[in-house]
Amino acid sequence: MWQLLLSDADRALAAELGLLLVQQPVTDTDRIEAAHPQAVRFPESWLVRSVLTRWPLGRLRFTAVDCLYVSKFDAGLSGIEESVAEALYWITPLQRHARTGEYSGTEVIVRRFGSMFERPRALTECGAKASAADYSPIRARSALVNGGEICPLCRSKLEARCRSWKECP
Ligand SMILES: [Zn+2]
Repeated sequence: MWQLLLSDADRALAAELGLLLVQQPVTDTDRIEAAHPQAVRFPESWLVRSVLTRWPLGRLRFTAVDCLYVSKFDAGLSGIEESVAEALYWITPLQRHARTGEYSGTEVIVRRFGSMFERPRALTECGAKASAADYSPIRARSALVNGGEICPLCRSKLEARCRSWKECP
């Protein structure tokens, strides 16, 4: 039977995003959920901490009905995510990503008061959702050289690409 789980790829992504995943001990709530007639698995909870500050950032919970329930502590928000990778990106504190300068498809933006419009979806080096805080490709390079604040995953992608370029700063 299909079950959500933390794959090796998810663990690697967490490490690259500066997240530490700590599996939480089984609780009475887990046992009660697991005994429910609709339960398909034993629930699992993981605390997500910042590697840098050790601060708890959020929680992943694989529920007894095999949903991924995610909490982001600083925002006080919880929700269902489709994949562990999406959940990890969401929990990671706002990062300044480097845009690749390329676009793929479109995304729908919902304005206040409900009106919507479509715009091209910008791609970032690390694959995270683009935000207004992102660096353009040129500014990302200068951030790299000048030690600017940049998402660690975008940084390592850019650095890896730089090593294969002769003219790289
Ligand atoms: Zn990034």
